[in-house]
Amino acid sequence: MIIGIDDTDSKTAGMCTTYLGALVVERISALVQSTVPYLLRLNPNVRFKTRGNAAVAFDVVLDKREMEKVKQICCNLIEEFAVLSDPNTHPGIVFLTKEQAAGIRSRLEDFSFRAVRDFITIAEAKNFLRDCHIAHVGYKNGRGLIGALAAAGLVFNSLPDHTYELITYRKPENWGRKRFLVEKSVWAADSLSYPHTWDTVDYHNCRIVCSPHGPDPVLFGIRGDDVNAIEHASKIIQSEPIEKRLLYITNQGTDMHITDSSVAEAMDGRSYKIKGMVTEPPYAISGGHVIFTIKDPTGRIDCAAFEPTKNFRWLIKQLETGDIVTVYGSVKNNTVNIEKINIGQLSPRVTIRNPVCCACGKRMKSAGRGQGYRCKKCKTTSSIPEEIETLPQLAPGLYETPPVARRHLAKPLIRCNDWTLVHPSR
Ligand code: ATP
Repeated sequence: MIIGIDDTDSKTAGMCTTYLGALVVERISALVQSTVPYLLRLNPNVRFKTRGNAAVAFDVVLDKREMEKVKQICCNLIEEFAVLSDPNTHPGIVFLTKEQAAGIRSRLEDFSFRAVRDFITIAEAKNFLRDCHIAHVGYKNGRGLIGALAAAGLVFNSLPDHTYELITYRKPENWGRKRFLVEKSVWAADSLSYPHTWDTVDYHNCRIVCSPHGPDPVLFGIRGDDVNAIEHASKIIQSEPIEKRLLYITNQGTDMHITDSSVAEAMDGRSYKIKGMVTEPPYAISGGHVIFTIKDPTGRIDCAAFEPTKNFRWLIKQLETGDIVTVYGSVKNNTVNIEKINIGQLSPRVTIRNPVCCACGKRMKSAGRGQGYRCKKCKTTSSIPEEIETLPQLAPGLYETPPVARRHLAKPLIRCNDWTLVHPSR
């Protein structure tokens, strides 16, 4: 059976769906055999999300006689730990047997992929569950059933790509207090495990990024491709006492949310890879955001490197009109929020200088705004500046936002195998 759970926490209270997942694993482990649990990130643009739009799922083998007991344990945990008092918390739990799933494989796959890339209504999720006689419990308006069913479906159909995250949790008496981690030990854990782990720290911006700041019970999470390296890194970190730790298989860092699109087909709230030509040089707007526009045969769209992307904005500022780029990111208010950019063909860079006097060979001076150039000595004039072609300061290839600004689903370039045209942020 696959158990999917979603929407148990709130922005203000100290909970997290992954923590509930850790409690489920603890309480049902005597009754079931289970594989590593799953942490699944769904569409990052969903308005109802608390933080990272996460759902959890468990692939368990159990004796039919234990089934009702396991269901009861899970529901009791939700009733005890979910923040049901929060008006935005609507938990959902789904119990999908493998026999049921096998008969609806492609319908499940379609639902799960749409949950990662698109929007689904509560009614659609409830109809699906009812039509297919899938056991479930929806609390309050049951919105969590969307994520719970999507998560179960992703596990049944196997993830096309996956990574791991080991999450450690704080003792309840410390929830809400400032987290204590020995900073040096976090940097050491990173340098001894990178590139098999990533996003523990952000080198360029001198920040620890593996530990959240909110009231939730997470102390830190180590992400990576290699379970041994992750374990090793987690043991190096010195911190306040850890209550629990759990390794999850996840779709984080896989770009599962991204699909190819033309400019005209791109819709708000979805994430795309769009190729186009830069139509004018990037410019900064108040707040430190850098904006430029691309066009393809179907239209034009603005692209933004927002302030939180920090040093990535300096790269974007070097783009010029005529550059061919492919931007990756989600569309909001008709603007692509760039997560990655592939710089393809670079247009020639042209620097403008005052022209040379044809009589004496010296550089002319400006004759005033809009009045061309003049040689003081020879009195010759010219209206045409000298244009010099220079080499672009940019190299073609893929660039990414730094770890401080990375979305959970965005694939870090350190995971890409083609090193010739990839420029990881570190
Ligand atoms: P946490 O990370 O702490 O678990 P969260 O950021 O995952 O919190 P939730 O509290 O789970 O946020 O809220 C997200 C809600 O959006 C859930 O009810 C989930 O079922 C729903 N949801 C997820 N994906 C979609 C989607 N593609 N379309 C519509 N609703 C979705």
